Amino acid sequence: MKELTLLLKKFFGFDSFRPLQAEIIQRVIQKKDSLALMPTGGGKSICYQLPAIYLPGTAIVISPLIALMKDQVEGLMANGIPAAALNSMMPEAQKQRIKQFAIQGKIKLLYISPEGLMGETDRLLPLLQLSLIAIDEAHCISQWGHDFRPEYTQLSVLKERFPDVPVVALTATADKITRLDIIEQLKLRSPQIFISSFDRPNLSLTVYRGLAKKEKTAAIVRFIGLHKGQSGIVYCMKRADTEAVAETLNSCRIKAAAYHAGLSPAQREEAQNDFINDRTEVVCATVAFGMGIDKSNVRWVIHYNMPGSIENYYQEIGRAGRDGLPSYTLLFYSLADLVVLRRFAGESGQSEVNLEKLNRMQRYCEADICRRRILLNYFGEEAGHDCGNCDVCRNPPQRFDGSLLVQKALSAILRTGERAGIQMLIDILRASARSELVRLGYHRLKTYGAGRDLPYNLWKEYIYQMLQLGYIETDYASARSLKVTPLGRKVLYGEAKALLSAWHEPEELKRPSRKEKARPIRVSSGPDSADEKLLDALRQLRKQIAQKESVPAYIIFSDATLQDMAAQKPLDMESFAAIRGVGDVKLEKYGKVFTALIQFVLKGAAPAG
Ligand code: ADP
Ligand code: ZN
Repeated sequence: MKELTLLLKKFFGFDSFRPLQAEIIQRVIQKKDSLALMPTGGGKSICYQLPAIYLPGTAIVISPLIALMKDQVEGLMANGIPAAALNSMMPEAQKQRIKQFAIQGKIKLLYISPEGLMGETDRLLPLLQLSLIAIDEAHCISQWGHDFRPEYTQLSVLKERFPDVPVVALTATADKITRLDIIEQLKLRSPQIFISSFDRPNLSLTVYRGLAKKEKTAAIVRFIGLHKGQSGIVYCMKRADTEAVAETLNSCRIKAAAYHAGLSPAQREEAQNDFINDRTEVVCATVAFGMGIDKSNVRWVIHYNMPGSIENYYQEIGRAGRDGLPSYTLLFYSLADLVVLRRFAGESGQSEVNLEKLNRMQRYCEADICRRRILLNYFGEEAGHDCGNCDVCRNPPQRFDGSLLVQKALSAILRTGERAGIQMLIDILRASARSELVRLGYHRLKTYGAGRDLPYNLWKEYIYQMLQLGYIETDYASARSLKVTPLGRKVLYGEAKALLSAWHEPEELKRPSRKEKARPIRVSSGPDSADEKLLDALRQLRKQIAQKESVPAYIIFSDATLQDMAAQKPLDMESFAAIRGVGDVKLEKYGKVFTALIQFVLKGAAPAG
């Protein structure tokens, strides 16, 4: 055990294992099979990389995406661990060279795509001294999982051909059936299943509901203004939206790119590379983006539309904050999305399952209890306490007797003959003079203007609450007209009280004042300005080195490592070695320049005399 901890520091620069890493590693070293379930960012890679270093021979790592393999190989090489990737896109000569190296035992980890592997189980693999086989994104093997890949099903031959080589299957998402499916299909031999907590306390969770397109975009621009220079992803349901949002951001001088299946592979690769190398701050993407990247410093993820299931949502927000630093997630939820998603789910092959998944997602969006509790509960974990880092915890609902408000709305609904949708209802309450309203004669209703004292957004929020409380209902197939339920009638006739939650307009949704517009504020929870200056200098140096070595900046050092440097301010090699994320190779390579820079900045910052 001690030896493993030493290797962890020597090669990766970390002082201790994360939960379950040590257990999984020991299991592999004992040549036994295992299945590891860890959330994205939980630290799965170490679970096979460390035993690969420890054991003699070469480890085979099956990974579905070329970009992911490339990333991992670069990261390993930067830490002085011989690694390579074989993929079908490579020139033959290069493949041959890598294979030769592997046969000569010069490669500790060899990454192969599942389709690349098939030709090799009888050719290359028998010539290698195999230390272990790691199967990343193992849920791809299961039809039940959401990323099923037919190539993965052929992986069952591995255990047949190499029964004594330990297999470790890893995934971030697998419910019970998928879990069993993975074990069965890979033919794992009495595997131990490791399930780590899915909690990601560094991700803050926020849900906004009922915003129109324009308001959403404004909120996003404002949010990014508060997080200048940080990497983030905006997930959209539609291709056109990815492009529209990216365009708006660019017009606000935020470097953003669209990413979706309609672009050419070259365009997609460019967008991805620019993002990885911090040349673009924001990618606006359909869900196709992100699976293949390990970028550890994604600081925020926004869902422009509601995701179809909690699994998808959790995996997508999981791409933020892999380095463990505080990161933000925002989800915009609207009934219009729900209508579209319901249709998709209904038309899908497994409509019952998918509709149920969507229901759970909807309940999450509408919840007024700690959101993290709901998520953890969904993944079968019990959180003993409220998280303090979601919008509900930050702004616990304060109930008030909203009966009068509700009565106004209900009465207006009935007076339209239950034909009005949400927007029309609000317009009636707020006395809009728009032509359609007048044409329908709604301006003559008794309730016309009865709610003009409340802003539009507030009405919208209360109407969502009324839906949730069951006073009104809407046909989700159309989301057009609102209907009053029997419970709603009770409130209308004063037989029941309606308790609503007070609503506070979140920071991101507020219109900035003129002064703020001129000087975008920067919220940094961390260091004071001197440390901030040092951190900036460290980032600059990292960027220069990354450019020189043609690798992404996070391959040189993660944000977490730079922050540790800014806090510890190491001035000599010994104290630099103690920084988290500094192993032997990086100490040797970068210790001098970074400590010199720290010295320089500190001196410059010291008062004269
Ligand atoms: P996953 O594959 O589970 O999404 P990774 O293996 O990419 O996660 O690890 C996520 C991040 O956590 C990486 O930046 C990695 O360097 C870091 N990490 C992993 N294990 C440790 C550890 N024991 N101590 C500190 N950081 C770690
Ligand atoms: Zn909470």
